[in-house]
Amino acid sequence: MHQLNKLLTISALCSCFASQPLLAQDAPSLHVTDAKQLPKNIIYLIGDGMGPAYTTAYRYYADNPTTRVVEKTIFDQLLVGMSSTYPDDDTYVTDSASSATALATSHKTYNGAISVDHEHNPLSTMLEVAKAQGKLTAVVVTSQINHATPASFLAHNQSRKNYDEIADSYLSNVINGRPIADLMLGGGTRYFVREHRDLTQEFTQLGYQYIDKLSDLNTIKSLPALGLFAPKGLPFALGSEDPLRLATMTHKALELLSDQEAPFVLMVEASQIDWCGHRNDVACAMNEMHDFATTLEHVKTFIDANPDTLLVATADHSTGGLTLGSDGVYQWKGKLLHYVTSLPNAIARAIVDDLTVLDTSATLSTFLAQHIRFNIDAKNLDSLRLQLNSRLTEEKSAKLIEKDLLHFIDKATYTGWTTSGHTAIDVPIFAYGKGQQFFTGHKDNTEIGARLIDIIKAQDGKTK
Ligand SMILES: [Zn+2]
Repeated sequence: MHQLNKLLTISALCSCFASQPLLAQDAPSLHVTDAKQLPKNIIYLIGDGMGPAYTTAYRYYADNPTTRVVEKTIFDQLLVGMSSTYPDDDTYVTDSASSATALATSHKTYNGAISVDHEHNPLSTMLEVAKAQGKLTAVVVTSQINHATPASFLAHNQSRKNYDEIADSYLSNVINGRPIADLMLGGGTRYFVREHRDLTQEFTQLGYQYIDKLSDLNTIKSLPALGLFAPKGLPFALGSEDPLRLATMTHKALELLSDQEAPFVLMVEASQIDWCGHRNDVACAMNEMHDFATTLEHVKTFIDANPDTLLVATADHSTGGLTLGSDGVYQWKGKLLHYVTSLPNAIARAIVDDLTVLDTSATLSTFLAQHIRFNIDAKNLDSLRLQLNSRLTEEKSAKLIEKDLLHFIDKATYTGWTTSGHTAIDVPIFAYGKGQQFFTGHKDNTEIGARLIDIIKAQDGKTK
């Protein structure tokens, strides 16, 4: 596998459209050089780890049980294509850094790379291109803002693991003397406020407003601004005070960005779908999906009011090998996941903190009723209690108890997983608004990045 995709010129992009195997009615008839079809603003959303099993699961999880039909979700409504995600490495399975590099720069690279090639040369990112043109740029994520996906839009580093270096480069990687992003919302105080260097103060000196509480979001009145709301990632949606924190942050970002004359490019990442996937925690994943679905609804509403804006959403890869149906049974009971009201990890820690809940089936039943509110029959409850008790003699018992609880929820809902890592399957592409036709059909992740960069570059010609 080599770098297949060179940055397309606009004319190449046009001939590329002509050769796409699209249905006649779907084929874009306009030339991209026609300024009228170019969006002013771009909102690029990435569901980390969100393979097609996640959007399917969310449909059944969100289904209204009082109607006979299964309602289409926002994902179903906006679906336009599928994307391959393989890296330029000795595997077809990508990591988030390599895939985000493809989505941000249009170039494939090795797993772990943050927008650099195999020789560690920087690959220019779409936010850098946008910034060089004087556009407004923003990044909104639920991970730390120097995590692999946002880092691939804002920095260049040979390894995603160099968190401090990546955070430092958010100040040192400048265009026209300014940092790449005008707005950054997410987590990461642990990397930005360090013993010998406080990057938040340096951002403040550059004129950024800095806040460290999500509840202070509305105190941001203008750009540039930086909001870091947790040491690393924000709390998971499930069990969190603000389970729609990505939607809340995106809503605020759109308010700030659309208040200005300049066009904007906003990157939003639902970072933690992937983290739930790595844990093989389907209840955790559905709550992250609900936050992302709500975010997409907000963006769609924004575009309905501001039709010169393009939404493109996709995933960087799928995580966990999630599937719906297991054990030879033709069933998936995703609705039960609404009754899981605490993170299994938190339930496990509560059990380890108070082992008396495992004394009898009655004590366990009373305890679980606060966290897992679906009916558990007496036989299953007792076998769960025996299983959990047997874990207490082993090391890292909270981790093992969490695994048992996850297994119990998977059994009850017929949810399957194949791995604690990523998988190579294609991921969905969603698009809406002006220019959505450029993203239909099968695309490689590099092509999504290339088309967005082409649009950003062509916008420059339009605005001159
Ligand atoms: Zn991952």
